Amino acid sequence: MTTNGDERHVKVLVVGAGPAGLSAALYAARAELAPVVLTGLQLGGQAALTHVIENYPGFPTGVGGAELGELFQKQAENFGAKVEFDMAHEIDLSQRPFKVTTDTGEYKADTLILTTGANPNPLGIPGESELIGRGVSYCATCDGWFFKDKKVVIVGGGDSAFEEGLFITRYASSVTVIHRRDEFRASPILQKRAKEHPKMNFILDTIVTEVVGSDKVTTLKLKNVKTNAESTFDTDGLFIFIGHTPNTQMFKGQLEMSDLGYVVVNDKMETSVEGVYAAGEIADPHFRQVITSAGMGAAAAIQATRFLEAVTA
Ligand code: NAP
Repeated sequence: MTTNGDERHVKVLVVGAGPAGLSAALYAARAELAPVVLTGLQLGGQAALTHVIENYPGFPTGVGGAELGELFQKQAENFGAKVEFDMAHEIDLSQRPFKVTTDTGEYKADTLILTTGANPNPLGIPGESELIGRGVSYCATCDGWFFKDKKVVIVGGGDSAFEEGLFITRYASSVTVIHRRDEFRASPILQKRAKEHPKMNFILDTIVTEVVGSDKVTTLKLKNVKTNAESTFDTDGLFIFIGHTPNTQMFKGQLEMSDLGYVVVNDKMETSVEGVYAAGEIADPHFRQVITSAGMGAAAAIQATRFLEAVTA
């Protein structure tokens, strides 16, 4: 990195520090490109909020999500990556080097690897946003502990709902999954575990229409989507796991994106702007696994290395 006043000029700037960003940093560091990683809010990305990751190879008994993020970071730093607890606000791809404005100033970068991940979707129902942190949550690992011996509801029918629901059973007295259909898309192994768990219950064909409570969640209003019958359900907590939206707002109008807001990449992780790569959940609506994100990050860094070699040759 060269420093000139407030301006820092790097060959590779990685924006985001989840599995994709930290893997990209590892590969770029080993290529001796001295990458800088801007962590944003969460080192380790969403994976760091997962209590245990059981499907990342090399950890036969699982590994804590936050621990895995720290291991990724340490490995990248061992080879010369610099991880900065800094947040990018604005990215200008119209000039070269690219300009990135952060909390602490400005970076110029010859290549960018964008790995800003995704955020959980809200239900968008009355009472939800008002009661966030007071019973409404999107993160079991962060908030599960607060529901010791309490009743918890999970909304969603995918892997996240089941995995997080199973995690909360270690604290809560009961975990009720409320799902809008009568079939789940969660993997069979998670479904089996959840259905066999004595604390887990299921309410199907049902949506939550309102979260009720003054200073904390007390009740949910429900509607059966087949019969239209309305009912209420008393609970202390509502955990929502209904998918994610990619964090791509910053790149709107500058990079090609899909209708759902994912950055479009080719099989080399190249975006529509030469020298800009995207990896992990901002570019992947399909797999969203730690291992696939890490693989995309590695591929992006290899491609950035080739690009830099070609332009300096
Ligand atoms: P997902 O698979 O997209 O599931 C979202 C769930 O939320 C679906 O059941 C969906 O219902 C429901 N839903 C969506 N919008 C809703 C709304 N407005 N109201 C009520 N319900 C709504 O999301 P995910 O569970 O977060 O998983 C995302 C990806 O990450 C998947 O590829 C998954 O395999 C992966 N993942 C893997 C693991 C693991 O391997 N251990 C763990 C977590 C996530 P419908 O089914 O009716 O559409």
